[in-house]
Amino acid sequence: QGKAYSFLMRTRQPAGVVPNRLYLVMDDLADQFGNGTLRLTTRQAYQLHGVLKKDLKTVFSSVIKNMGSTLAACGDVNRNVMGPAAPFTNRPDYLAAQKAALDLADLLTPQSGAYYDVWLDGEKFMSSYKEDPAVTEARAFNGFGTNFDNSPEPIYGSQYLPRKFKIATTVPGDNSVDLFTQDLGVVVIMDDSGQQVQGYNLYVGGGQGRSHRDADTFPRLADPLGYVAAADLFAAAKAVVAVFRDYGRRDNRKQARTRHMLAEWGVDKFRSVAEQYLGKRFQEPVPLPPWQYKDYLGWGEQGDGRLYCGVYVQNGRIKGEAKRALRAAIERYSLPVVLTPHQNLVLRDVRPEDREDIEQLLRAGGVKELVEWDGLDRLSMACPALPLCGLAVTEAERALPDVNTRIRAMLTRAGLPPSQPLHVRMTGCPNGCVRPYMAELGLVGDGPNSYQLWLGGGPAQTRLAQPYAERVKVKDLESTLEPLFGAWRAGRQPDEAFGDWVARLGFDAVRQQAAAAAAA
Ligand code: SF4
Repeated sequence: QGKAYSFLMRTRQPAGVVPNRLYLVMDDLADQFGNGTLRLTTRQAYQLHGVLKKDLKTVFSSVIKNMGSTLAACGDVNRNVMGPAAPFTNRPDYLAAQKAALDLADLLTPQSGAYYDVWLDGEKFMSSYKEDPAVTEARAFNGFGTNFDNSPEPIYGSQYLPRKFKIATTVPGDNSVDLFTQDLGVVVIMDDSGQQVQGYNLYVGGGQGRSHRDADTFPRLADPLGYVAAADLFAAAKAVVAVFRDYGRRDNRKQARTRHMLAEWGVDKFRSVAEQYLGKRFQEPVPLPPWQYKDYLGWGEQGDGRLYCGVYVQNGRIKGEAKRALRAAIERYSLPVVLTPHQNLVLRDVRPEDREDIEQLLRAGGVKELVEWDGLDRLSMACPALPLCGLAVTEAERALPDVNTRIRAMLTRAGLPPSQPLHVRMTGCPNGCVRPYMAELGLVGDGPNSYQLWLGGGPAQTRLAQPYAERVKVKDLESTLEPLFGAWRAGRQPDEAFGDWVARLGFDAVRQQAAAAAAA
């Protein structure tokens, strides 16, 4: 009989795009082979927890044959490419950013046919699956073409990358993708007409993961690499990947990301080496407007007469009545879905005459809270952590709702309005899967029921937070946070965000003012 090993399956969904058929299949697979829940990730993909080893082939082949994929969702390759979840059909810039995400995912897809051999049972189907229309359709949807041969990897070579590599695309001003946490950030620049892509601003060397008590591991903001004309995007992306492939450290996995190269080399050296691969110079980045946090929650116009509905999903976990209600709406109206970088989802292509029924379905299914949100819940994220992640040292997903309730109470006692926004991110370990080092308040697990507190990230995720306190027990959060919130309310400039207040004052002044608030 043997042990019942269970696995996590993660999908690949460039720009979070989920065709209607795939949503329904994922929903079924969660019930039949997972733990009955679906988990949306911060990279706009699915995670299915609790898949037994004996079911892996059935689950993977179901995904592949229904316009999905898991190819390169893990491993030392380019991971799922993020793109803005903006559901606007009349915005050429957003459409271009989403297309760039899909194209870059395609460009950097491993070419080996081994994936299909393994999960589509190559021996059994080798003579037939190449002709299977469902497989061909799925490959075409994912931009894979029909190269089923075990051809050499044109970009990854024989050794693949030193470690994982992450890309996000977006448009100027929309930082829903956490651009500065990516190995490669791509910003679409439109021409004066606003209709055609003129080129791209590129950013390199961002990242989040670190280890406690290891100063050689650190989160880092991406640096501006430069601007390339539209026709040079793929060559530039390949050049950046090739520099990482050839110069990234392979002797120490904890220092094997682009951020470690950038920290050691500086961006000027990285740019100069990348230019040798590219065969031309990067131009100066195009000046951009300020960045904003965007999440597309609630109802809105798509731009083509149809509506979208951004649905808040607490910590990305779709379960129970909410899962059934979402499925009912998505199935009845054949809605495609977009997964967002904040673990929410957007229902697309809703006819105005169906809005009321869909809203009723969601509410009758007990998912009223999915379309009505608190400003704190809306902006917060937690990773799965215990009991699902082997690296977790403490809780995150299961703990954050209660912690948020307590934070809301603290904000209220400090005299802040009920609508006061605050970006809170919580993880079960320092690996940083929900990008906690960009939050205004990051809680990073550092022991059982204990967290490192990171403060000072910006409300638009453009500034790194810094470690403020260690080993703060979750039961003691009030004694640390409440004086901070009191001092912030008393000393902030009009509408100044918590993270901005912390960054303006610096930790010494913040500690003094918090101590004064606690003593008052
Ligand atoms: Fe697991 Fe750590 Fe990632 Fe959370 S941050 S999912 S605990 S690896």
